[in-house]
Amino acid sequence: MTWHILGAGALGSLWATRLARAAVPVRLILRSAQRLGEYQRSGGLNLKEDGRSSVQRIPAELPDTPVPIERLLVACKAYDAEAAIAQVVSRLVPGGEILLLQNGLGSQQAIAERWPQARCIFVSSTEGAYREADFSVVFAGRGQNWLGDPGGGDAPSWLDELERAGIAHIWSSDILTRLWRKLALNCAINPLSVLHDCRNGELLQHREQLDALCEELGELLEANASAAACDLQVEVLRVIEATAANYSSMHQDVRLGRRTEIAYLLGHACATADSLGLPVPKLRELHRRLCEYLRQRGLPTH
Ligand code: NAP
Repeated sequence: MTWHILGAGALGSLWATRLARAAVPVRLILRSAQRLGEYQRSGGLNLKEDGRSSVQRIPAELPDTPVPIERLLVACKAYDAEAAIAQVVSRLVPGGEILLLQNGLGSQQAIAERWPQARCIFVSSTEGAYREADFSVVFAGRGQNWLGDPGGGDAPSWLDELERAGIAHIWSSDILTRLWRKLALNCAINPLSVLHDCRNGELLQHREQLDALCEELGELLEANASAAACDLQVEVLRVIEATAANYSSMHQDVRLGRRTEIAYLLGHACATADSLGLPVPKLRELHRRLCEYLRQRGLPTH
């Protein structure tokens, strides 16, 4: 069975090249004839890993290619994912699978509700990759991929293809808890790193702010995925220390003038608190200040 990969950015390329290298059938779906032409001229997808480069000549196609899709790996940003799937969903066979690699929460649920005929598998990834150039990706940080179906059901048999491809993975029976935990870590660290314009480690100079955010995030997690609330503050501090020299992904996006995924991180946290009638004044104020900061730089706040 072929893996169709929608979006050949950093994470899409990281998955596609490793699968192709293990002789698993893969096809890329690119957004336009122009992108397809650029890809074909580039000669394939380049993966840089441990200082070594390798090129995989993975076949690529346009969204309207009349070939059925059985398994779709969606590797677009959270704000692009639903519209990108809408372009190919008529090709999905009954009972087909959609794997969602997006960060945060909100986009996955919207997609699962809109296309209930598909099995939507949510993925939470701590792997790190960035695009050095178009169609050239650097595997920057090893990590783990948790996969799970919030609707329940057994682990898919194709997990052995991930094994063959060397893609670290764990089947999770509670993927939403994992995604909520990652969202909370992100909400505690990334917006403050943008507003203070600092590396993660410098956030330790703002302990009061961090602690107050962790308290509200803990309450939000208790109400949504209680297992995710356990020792949140301890882990926030651990992550800050482990990544002290790094700039957060949101900080990098803002510095490069790129749209952030704020709506699926802090925005989703505030919207969920609202729907539960949970007061989260510190998170709300952080969201307001971050939106203002983005607006001043001409960046979207959604
Ligand atoms: P990225 O490098 O910006 O890649 C996104 C890709 O989606 C781009 O190649 C873009 O195409 C493509 N795309 C958008 N709309 C499309 C459409 N309609 N049809 C086809 N392709 C379309 O982003 P990323 O870093 O891989 O991140 C993807 C998701 O993974 C995000 O939610 C991110 O938070 C999450 N994530 C990333 C990492 C990481 O280390 N990168 C780690 C964990 C989680 P163009 O190239 O034509 O613009």
